[in-house]
Parts: sequence; C-alpha cells; structure tokens
Amino acid sequence: MELNIDGKPKISFFDLTGCNGCLYTVLNHPLLLQLVDSINVREFRLASNVKKEDACDLAIVEGYVAIQEEVETVKEIREKAEKVVALGSCSSYGSIHSIQNFIDVKEAKNKIYPDAPDFIETPKKAVSIDDYIKVDLKVPGCPPNADEAVELIADLVSGKRSPELAQWPVCVDCKMRENICVFIHGIPCLGPVTRGGCGAPCPASYTCDGCRGPLDNPNLESELEYLSKYLDREEIIRFFKRYASCSEDFRKVIEGEVNVRGS
Ligand code: SF4
Ligand code: SF4
Ligand code: SF4
Repeated sequence: MELNIDGKPKISFFDLTGCNGCLYTVLNHPLLLQLVDSINVREFRLASNVKKEDACDLAIVEGYVAIQEEVETVKEIREKAEKVVALGSCSSYGSIHSIQNFIDVKEAKNKIYPDAPDFIETPKKAVSIDDYIKVDLKVPGCPPNADEAVELIADLVSGKRSPELAQWPVCVDCKMRENICVFIHGIPCLGPVTRGGCGAPCPASYTCDGCRGPLDNPNLESELEYLSKYLDREEIIRFFKRYASCSEDFRKVIEGEVNVRGS
C-alpha cells in the first residue's frame, strides 16, 4: 500500500502505558525534523496539544496495554490506521512490565501499596499489543535505537523500500564497536540470541539484557549451553524474562521447551 495522501501521509503517535522513552527517542531525532515537512502529524501528545482524531495512514504506538480502557484505545487505533507500528519493547514484547506475569500481583500490591492495594488497576497479563490487534511492524528496544526507528518509519512513510530490522545478533554490533566480550570475564550475556542494530551500547559497560528481543531463528541451545556455565536454571529463566518474555523464542526457554543439550 502506498502511504500517500496528497503527498503528505497522516501520521499519529500514541502512548499507552510506558515511560515515554521510545517517543522521546524519536522526537529528539534530527531526521524526524526533516520528515516534518513531508508528513501530516495528526496527534503526538508529547509534542503538541493538537489532536485530530480522524483516520491516519500510520499509527505509531508506544507502551503496553495496562488497563481495560487501553484495550479499547488500541482497537480504535487499529480501526483508524492503515498501518500500525509497535514502537519499543513494551508494545512489541511486553518489556519489563511482563514481569507481572510471573509474580503474584495481588501480593505485590499489598506489599507496595498496603493502604490502597486496589487503587492500582492491572491487566490480567502484560502482553505485546499484537495480542489485541494486527501490527505491521515491530521496532524493538527499550528504548529503540533512534537512527533505526526513524529510518524504519521513514521507509514506511515513503514506501520506497520495505522496512527491515537487523538480521544479525547484537554480537555483530559488539565486534564492530570493538567491545571485549564479557563472557571472557565470566559475565553472562544475551547478545548472541538478541536482534542487533542497536550498536551494542550495553556490553560496552556491562552486558546485553536482550531488550530488543530475539533474533530470527536464534540458536537458543548454544546460548543456554554458555549461560549454564555461569548461571543456574532459575537465573537463566529470569534473564530471558526481563524484556521479551512475550516473544515466541524467549518464551520457549522460560517454559522449558528449549533446554541445555542433554539436560
Ligand atoms: S520500551 Fe522501554 S523506553 Fe519504551 S516505553 Fe517501554 S519502558 Fe519506556
Ligand atoms: S559481550 Fe555479549 S554481545 Fe558482545 S560479543 Fe560477547 S556475547 Fe556477544
Ligand atoms: S545491547 Fe542488548 S540490552 Fe543494550 S540496547 Fe542492545 S539489545 Fe538492548
């Protein structure tokens, strides 16, 4: 589909529950300023109080569905938009919020808000937005890499080439950056199974926590073999739960469908 209406595609930016880090990342990028003349922004709460609730060609959605009201919001977004982009790991994979899927939420609320535990509304599960609606493109990362996110959005807007995520692991970025592999120092890392394209900032200071979710066809068995030299089974599962527990591949590790060879 050509994203073109009178030469100016209509784009709306939405934030569900999240920290706004993804939208700030995009908002601060110089390429977005270049794009501004060739797009028609209908809604962008962080940048403007203008809100034109008509149909749009592209909806960019940050955050995850935390309350029932947002289920309706995300469905309305889908109805109005020709294409939907999930921006960031909250909307793509549930991100850090999905930790609630593995704890007793009631007990946590009682501990943290003992005076008003029922004041905070929480969904039954933290999931990616494609559990509710069809998503045309996921731009993962917590937050996403700014250059990559804006370029992918520009590709979608121009329609000149199909937007493609990096098909290599974070280890490739890491080598390009000339980081010393943290495994050498006995520090476990999810870089080998995580989608690259971020420039590997984290192994430069500590380790990759897998915020961009899995690479296509990750070699999970080999990764588990390495991780098991440093972590026990419970710690490995915690590692995979951190950012992308809603992804199909990391879920397989968490639920024990993939194990260390021979175990
Ligand atoms: S993906 Fe990360 S940066 Fe983006 S909204 Fe969620 S928590 Fe914030
Ligand atoms: S530090 Fe992590 S991302 Fe970098 S090469 Fe080693 S395993 Fe890969
Ligand atoms: S190095 Fe890992 S944790 Fe850091 S931004 Fe890249 S994918 Fe995310």
